[in-house]
Parts: sequence; C-alpha cells; structure tokens
Amino acid sequence: TFKSRRGLPQKRRIRDVQKVVAVSSAKGGVGKSTIAVNLALALARRGIRTGILDTDIFGPSIPTLLNLHGEPRLDSNNCLIPLTNYGLKSMSMGYLLPQASSSPPSDTELTTSSPPPMDTTPISWRGLMVTKAMQQLLHSVSWGPLDILILDLPPGTGDVQLTIGQEIILDGAVIVSTPQDIALRDAVRGFGMFQKMDVPVLGMVQNMAFFACPNCGHETKIFSHSHSHVHDAEGGVVAQCQRLGIEFLGDIPLDARVCEDADRGMPTVVAEEGDQNSVRRQAFISIA
Ligand code: ADP
Repeated sequence: TFKSRRGLPQKRRIRDVQKVVAVSSAKGGVGKSTIAVNLALALARRGIRTGILDTDIFGPSIPTLLNLHGEPRLDSNNCLIPLTNYGLKSMSMGYLLPQASSSPPSDTELTTSSPPPMDTTPISWRGLMVTKAMQQLLHSVSWGPLDILILDLPPGTGDVQLTIGQEIILDGAVIVSTPQDIALRDAVRGFGMFQKMDVPVLGMVQNMAFFACPNCGHETKIFSHSHSHVHDAEGGVVAQCQRLGIEFLGDIPLDARVCEDADRGMPTVVAEEGDQNSVRRQAFISIA
C-alpha cells in the first residue's frame, strides 16, 4: 500500500481544516462537480463551516457554478484567500487563470493576471508544473477555520488523484456515478484507488438514474436495462454498492432545472431554497 512505501512525501493535514472529503467520479460528465457544489452548499446552509476546492486544473467548473470570477488576493503569508459566495468558501485554478486554457499554469501565472502564453512546454515539464500548481492549491490557501473541505477531484483514477492522496490526509471519499454499465465499471476502479490510498469510501451517489417529467411528473429510468424501479436493489449503483459493501447515499434525478441552476451560477440548493417541495433540492440536502 502507499502507507508502507518509502520515499513518498509525508501526508499532511490542510491547515485549519477539520475534515477533507473528496468527491470523485471515474468518468467525466456524470455530474460530479454539480453534486460536489450542491453538497457543499447544503452543509454550509446547516451552519457547518464549509469550503470547496476545485482540483480540476484542466477543466475547473467551480467558478461557473458559484458565479465567482475574481482573482484571489494573497494574505501576509503569501497564501491565497478563498473567494466566497452563498456562504461557501472556494478556491479553483479557474480563478488563477484569467482565460480558459488547457495549459497548466507556471509559477508566475499563479499570481499574475497576464494571459497564459501558448503552450509550447515540453511534455516532461508539464507534469512538474501540474504537481506544483496542485501543491499550491492543497497547501497554500488560507481557508481559516473550516469544519469540512470538499475536494472536487478531476475525473478518473490517474496521477493527479494519486498525488492528492499522497499529499494530504483524506478523511473520506464520495463516488458519483450514473447507472450506466460503463460508468459503473469505472466506479469500481475508483473504489479500488481509494482503498489503495487507505481512504474510507463514504458511499456512492447515483446521478441521472431517472428523469422526472416536468409536465406529468412521471419518472422514467434513463440508463437501466431492467424495468425495476430505480430504488430496487437490482441494478445500477444500489447493486454496485451492495457488491462493494459500501453505502448507497442517494439519487439525484435528471432534471433540466439542476442544469439551468448550475449554468447560471446559482446551484439548486440555493436557487430553490424557499421551495419546501423541491424534490431536486431535497435530494441534495438528504445526501449531505
Ligand atoms: P462532471 O463534474 O462529472 O464532469 P458536471 O457536474 O460538470 O459533471 O455536469 C455535467 C453536465 O451535466 C452539466 O451541464 C450539468 O449541469 C449537468 N448535470 C449534472 N447533473 C445533472 C442532473 N441531475 N440533471 C440535469 N443536468 C445535470
């Protein structure tokens, strides 16, 4: 295991942060960031001091989701001061790169607002720069006292995820999956990765398993092949959880409102705050 290997950097706690929970998915586009930000907001709404760290260097989505685009300032220790909206503190590579860019940041780009140059960096340097940028995000943010920090991991089970697991102590991981066979198979790999890193898997969230028709309210299952109801333990994420012996944390319906809320930078947990009957909002709240 990673624990017993020698020569690896010592895992550290993030300063002032009680618990760090990673939200992960083995595949892109399954709704990981949407769920991570809504869960973080649900916790913040309960008075829990919460932050969210977007560790997706190449495709940061937290700035859009939280409608935050300013450039973070540095405190007297040269640590980045998080940007806050809806009572949730956040940090993302998206705040540090003024333009959408697929190139990893250099040291200077982390603190200046000049547009990133065209990427002519040799491949062998890119890995180093990504590691450097990641270390700054993990260790040089002045969160202040937080009860929980949600980590929005990049999709997949690659080097970046391993680096994070080696750099900091993760108190738990939540895996997001759709009920699609392929996504589920990949989710098992994600589970294996956290096991290797000695990170407890808190459970799995199933996204987009059913579509709630806005007109008639009928629920249609989208991906599943069987005709059992989504809450039955016969298919999808529920069955996978049983096989792996982890908790099924709940379902988020496929709903255009969830997407619209995300796109306009006011996630569902905030957008539908006053609506006690919102199934969408309630789904996030109960998982959090
Ligand atoms: P990931 O982080 O896994 O790449 P995102 O959270 O960026 O995925 O979601 C991908 C797209 O799907 C976004 O446009 C988002 O608004 C949309 N989306 C996510 N979950 C839902 C849902 N439950 N209902 C409708 N749209 C969703």
